[in-house]
Amino acid sequence: MKIHEYQAAQLFRDYGLPVPGGHLAVTAEEAYEIAQTLSPCVVKAQVHSGGRGKAGGVKMASTPEEAKKIASDMLGMKLVTKQTGPEGKIVRKVYLSETVKVKQEYYLSVTTDSASGSLMIIASAEGGTEIEEIAKHHPEKILKVPVSVTEGFKQYQGLRVADYLGLSGDHQKELLRILRGMIRLFLEKDASLVEINPLVLTEEGVLLCLDAKINFDDNALFRHPEITELRDTDEEDVREYEASKYGLNYISLHGNIGCLVNGAGLAMATMDEIQAKGGIPANFLDVGGSATAEKVTAAFRLLISDEKVEAIFVNIFGGIMHCDIISEGVITAVGETGLKLPLIVRLEGTNAAEGKKMLDESGLDLITASDMADGAEKAVAAAKAYHEKQKGGLS
Ligand code: GDP
Ligand code: MN
Repeated sequence: MKIHEYQAAQLFRDYGLPVPGGHLAVTAEEAYEIAQTLSPCVVKAQVHSGGRGKAGGVKMASTPEEAKKIASDMLGMKLVTKQTGPEGKIVRKVYLSETVKVKQEYYLSVTTDSASGSLMIIASAEGGTEIEEIAKHHPEKILKVPVSVTEGFKQYQGLRVADYLGLSGDHQKELLRILRGMIRLFLEKDASLVEINPLVLTEEGVLLCLDAKINFDDNALFRHPEITELRDTDEEDVREYEASKYGLNYISLHGNIGCLVNGAGLAMATMDEIQAKGGIPANFLDVGGSATAEKVTAAFRLLISDEKVEAIFVNIFGGIMHCDIISEGVITAVGETGLKLPLIVRLEGTNAAEGKKMLDESGLDLITASDMADGAEKAVAAAKAYHEKQKGGLS
């Protein structure tokens, strides 16, 4: 789960990390009032995305009037950053924060490293830019320090980071304090990422977290009601949110072929196969190994509600999952929604014969596939034909 910068900044404060003062505004009038206590200030669009600065979502205001004007322009605007995709995100809130005179910007984060099974501190003296860019073009400018979860953070690890960033004396001590706070926050709140980009050294010689980003491990949210409360469903893909309520693993993608698959591995293979046949999947959807007919119906409804979808490919390899359960869900959902889209079904494994028989007897208009490759090919062709027909019908 992601949260907004203003929420992350508050958690940073709770853990003793140095954050400039700031307040949230949802109207230009509120922004004006806040700016009177802060001016000059930075007005920052609150959307679940980085790269806001370059996209016009972070602006300096030298007077309250200017802050009001900027807030008024920003609120309601669609911010398109490198991370949002072309559809962008609507700005519904702005965060006003004290301006700071920046001398040097650093990148600092704590995340997990599956290879070493530990936490990983990532640091770079090239802050401000996206870390992905630095990693791609200048991997030598990044320091990674693993921190054992069982042994905890050690002073020498912090000293290595300070040394790498060229911080000594009081700055070194402060950096160690910041790292301890980040790691404590990471562990206590079950985060998957705590990122400060940029961490800055001000002209007055103070270290400050100028941006705050925290992602949380969804699997641990059940033990953090205070974090779950920070969820902003406006920022989430409606379908991804809906899917999470049914315990479905669903991720929206940009293509036009809706996929309903059991098992993450098979779902990924299905997406590869669709691409190999010249198509693009509209989603990743794993209904899981023990889906009920109700869950399958919900999954199907999700696919149908997506306007991008021009064909649906059901690819099931029944193991624990029984193919007749899938058929039951498909028949119910199609009955409810009156499906107009081409439906391609491949059923194999446990109770495949029963599942196929149910689909046959239901009288549903569907295309059967003998295997995954055949199904992917048929789905790509059917989506294309459907698209042409729609275009023809409209003109
Ligand atoms: P992001 O682009 O979404 O990561 O948003 P940030 O919060 O990181 O802001 C973008 C950039 O604006 C930062 O990297 C800083 O360089 C700059 N910035 C933000 N606040 C201040 C400030 O108070 N003073 C100065 N000089 N620069 C700032
Ligand atoms: Mn940033």
